[in-house]
Amino acid sequence: MSSGDKFLGRLLKRAPPAALDLPDLLGSPASGLHLFLDADGRVLQAAGPLRHLLGQQAPTDSPLPLNAWVLPHSTLAIEGRPADWQGQPLDLDFPGLGGQPLHLRGWVQPQGDGWLMQLMDIADLLLERQQSRQREACQRMAGHIAEQLRACSLLRLPSVVAEQLQAIAQRWRIPCLALALPDEHEQGWRIHGRYVAHDAPALWEDGQRLGTPLDSLNGSAPQRIGAHHGLDEHTRVQATFGNADGLAVPYSDDRGTVAWLLCGVYRAEDGAPHLADLDWMLLASALAGPLLGRLREQEHHRQLERLESLQGLLGTGWWELSGNGESVQLAPALAADLQLDTEALPLGHWLEQIHPADREELRSRLTALQLHGEALSLCVRLRRPDAWYRVQGQVAGSGEGRRLVGFMLDISDIKNQQQQTAAAHARLDNLIASSPAVIYVQRYVEGALLPSFFSASLQPLLGWRLEDLDAAALAERIHPDDRDGYFERCRQLLREGSVRARYRLRDHRGDYHWLLDEARLLRNDLGLPVEAVGLWLDVTDATLAAEQIRQSEERYRILVEDSPAMICRYRPDLILTFGNQPLAHYLECTPQQLPGIDLGSWLSDEQRAAFLQRLAALTPDNPVSTAEISLQLPGREHAWWVWSDRGVFDEQGRLTEVQAVGRDNTEVRRSQQQLTQSAKMATLGEMATGLAHEINQPLNVMRMAIVNVLKRLGNGDVQVDYLTDKLNRIDAQVQRAAKVVDHMRVFGRRSEIERQLFNPATAIEGTLSLLAEGMRGKGVDLRISETPFAVHCRGYVDQLEQVLINLMVNARDALLGKRESDPAFKPWISIYAERDEHKVRLWVEDNGGGIDPRLLERIFEPFFTTKPVGVGTGLGLSVSYGIVENMGGHLSVRNSADGARFCIELPIAPDEA
Ligand code: ADP
Repeated sequence: MSSGDKFLGRLLKRAPPAALDLPDLLGSPASGLHLFLDADGRVLQAAGPLRHLLGQQAPTDSPLPLNAWVLPHSTLAIEGRPADWQGQPLDLDFPGLGGQPLHLRGWVQPQGDGWLMQLMDIADLLLERQQSRQREACQRMAGHIAEQLRACSLLRLPSVVAEQLQAIAQRWRIPCLALALPDEHEQGWRIHGRYVAHDAPALWEDGQRLGTPLDSLNGSAPQRIGAHHGLDEHTRVQATFGNADGLAVPYSDDRGTVAWLLCGVYRAEDGAPHLADLDWMLLASALAGPLLGRLREQEHHRQLERLESLQGLLGTGWWELSGNGESVQLAPALAADLQLDTEALPLGHWLEQIHPADREELRSRLTALQLHGEALSLCVRLRRPDAWYRVQGQVAGSGEGRRLVGFMLDISDIKNQQQQTAAAHARLDNLIASSPAVIYVQRYVEGALLPSFFSASLQPLLGWRLEDLDAAALAERIHPDDRDGYFERCRQLLREGSVRARYRLRDHRGDYHWLLDEARLLRNDLGLPVEAVGLWLDVTDATLAAEQIRQSEERYRILVEDSPAMICRYRPDLILTFGNQPLAHYLECTPQQLPGIDLGSWLSDEQRAAFLQRLAALTPDNPVSTAEISLQLPGREHAWWVWSDRGVFDEQGRLTEVQAVGRDNTEVRRSQQQLTQSAKMATLGEMATGLAHEINQPLNVMRMAIVNVLKRLGNGDVQVDYLTDKLNRIDAQVQRAAKVVDHMRVFGRRSEIERQLFNPATAIEGTLSLLAEGMRGKGVDLRISETPFAVHCRGYVDQLEQVLINLMVNARDALLGKRESDPAFKPWISIYAERDEHKVRLWVEDNGGGIDPRLLERIFEPFFTTKPVGVGTGLGLSVSYGIVENMGGHLSVRNSADGARFCIELPIAPDEA
């Protein structure tokens, strides 16, 4: 036991002081202070070396009481008289030189009639006692701090650190206290935690970066900071302490100095004079040691967590091969990925998960790793489809610690994408290669476009290769007439980002190809041009064909323009959109004036209705219709056109336009009319005999009446009744003759221009009025059936009458001819009408024996006659046929049992149907 420890024990009151020890303790009298006191405790004399250290000059003339010698707080220890003080130690503080108190301990013993007080310096003793007390407190606190930091949860760690800092600060009255740890992100230091007393300046903030000045401190001992230390290297550190006094206590472990406890606005000499460097370092280590341990543990945890989540995210995991290469250990996540239920398994089981195609390669690589330490990196497929892993492995450590470790990374996505991309690439390459177009890329270099790629189709098309077509060569091979266009195409491409152009390019044989060029400019993220991608399509054939079409269109146009026919186009509402020269000529205007004219304005209402009805009947399957139309052109005589319409339809089958070709038929029509008229006249001529009979008959009746009346007058036998009767009879005959003549006049008139509605029965009546008497006169029996219905047809009643007359006259001729050879023959002609929904049929039948079947085909031909020259004209049936057709009907003939049977079939006018 050292003497210090002995004192400590005593100071800590573990053992009472022993009186026996005193002489030892006091040592030589020459070493202390000897005060001679009288019985009342007045100091009579002072001796001993310490006497010179007393601030008080003693002795004075009159002895002073001891109370006056000591510092005020010591007076308590010496109340009373020296006799009372005997046997106990007295700790007294005397004022020393320079204001420093002298701590002395002494005892009194009688000497003569007074007392001797022997005192010795116990300043060291006190200091040591203070120090050990402080150290003990310090150790206790350090132990407490370390325990708190170790035991608390990670979550509470920051607040526990703060609490401990506060405890230290309060215990040693440190205004600003902080713990600095190495800065993770940069070099230097960072405040990890701090405490600041409420009345002290806050020198530091939590997390504040301190930079590297602390590094310049010697980390093996606490560093006192302060201007009065005058150390140059501390100047920079002072900034850390805001130029305040301070103490920086290092904490070092195997990594060197890893923490500083910073005490700011603090002079340790004043605040904790009894704490030794070691105590400070103990505090610092109690705080920083466990804290760093906890922080490292936390960091380690985090890293593990990160690693694991990373493994999970990446679909990767580690593996480790046993030293003998027989078994393998897998990361749990990896084992789960591979659908293995154990993480430690024989190598073979692991390899079984690998696709047979890759298995042996992996096995041999693993062997190479095991035996020769060859690092391993391999992509393998799993047995399960579309699953790819990269297996990587290496040797870690050496000697005893040699391990074979690696990881498996799920690269299925990448591999599958790679495969898809490769397939897409192959398809694209194939497409480009097999494309009939030339696909090209032009690189953008300082405003110019330089060819950098052509697809393989360039060679067969033009015979050039990429080398043959640099920018200059390309421009040179463009047809001189198209070069300006080509340069404009390049400018437009750069300006607008895409272009479509057509130009001629020379191939290696010198022939030009028409190319359709479509290009697009690709720009980078900044919008700057990078390259142009485009394609050339050889449109030579199409261009030539288009040229031919253009030429033929031109020919067609000329044809239309110069055609003698009138050609026009008009809309379904009959407004002209185009008309050629002849049409314009006919209408006495220019072709430019034609569009907009309403075709319908030249038609009568009926014509117009019929015209529209005809157009409405056009269909895409049956788009053509031809008709003769009559027009009333303003200030002109009536015109007849033969008009062919061809409908143009849209996709829905709606009529959009009509193209028409017309021919002026007026002349033909006129001559036809004249023909009809002359045929009519001929008929009248032929009927002359019949007509004579028709008129003779009433004349005969009248003459007979007149002869009889004259005879009676001659006899003088004239009765009024008789006369009246005769005169009435004459009047009836006059009316009958007038009617015949009237009808002849009507019949001989020219036909109306336009067709009229009429009842066919009136035509039968008219015919009979002209022919009946004559026929009967010749002994022909007329069998006329009443027409039991009223219908209307559209046409010319006089012309139908003419047809009926022709048929009856022909029948009469046949009948009379037959009777000549057979006088007993009883001739008859039958006329009757019948109808159905749309048609009315008039039948004219005779019993004249009919027509030679071999001639049936020919009788409607003009000038066909079987009658002697000068008798027949051969026009009757031909004209009749034309008349009936012109009214939309049909004339036909058959032989019946007795003779010929003609049928006039006419459409019933729609409003009547
Ligand atoms: P044409 O009476 O002047 O000969 P048509 O054209 O009227 O001229 O008649 C042509 C021919 O048709 C006649 O010549 C005649 O042979 C024959 N034909 C016409 N009607 C009859 C009829 N009812 N019976 C027998 N033959 C007829």
